[in-house]
Amino acid sequence: MAKTESKIAVHLRDTRNGYASIYHTEGYFEDGRFTDYFWWSGGNNRCDCNRSTLLYEGDKSKELPCDCGGNIIVIDKIVRIDTGEILYSEIEEEENITDEEKQRVRTIKEKEYRDKYK
Ligand SMILES: [Zn+2]
Repeated sequence: MAKTESKIAVHLRDTRNGYASIYHTEGYFEDGRFTDYFWWSGGNNRCDCNRSTLLYEGDKSKELPCDCGGNIIVIDKIVRIDTGEILYSEIEEEENITDEEKQRVRTIKEKEYRDKYK
C-alpha cells in the first residue's frame, strides 16, 4: 500500500449567492485512491460550517452555523493538481431534489468510486 500526498484544488460554491472560490490543500492517496473522499462526501467537510470557513477564508461574519450537514455550500469539483483528475463532484446533484434523494445519489457515487479502485 503506497501512501502518497498530492496537492488538490477544492472548488467551493455558495448556492445562496453564487460566490465561489478554490481552496488549495494536500490530498492523501493510497495506491492512487483518494482516501479523503469520505471526509468531503460525508465527514466533517460535508458540513456547511466547515465548508464556509474554507470558502470565505476565515471571515467570521460569513461562517454558517453548524447543523452538521446541509447543502448550502457545494463542491463543484475536487481536482488533483498533478494529474488533472476530478476526484469528487457534487455538480450533478440537482438542487431541487429531496435530502433522501441526495443521500441516495451520494451512496451510489461512493459505491462507484469504491468499485473503481477495488
Ligand atoms: Zn458543522
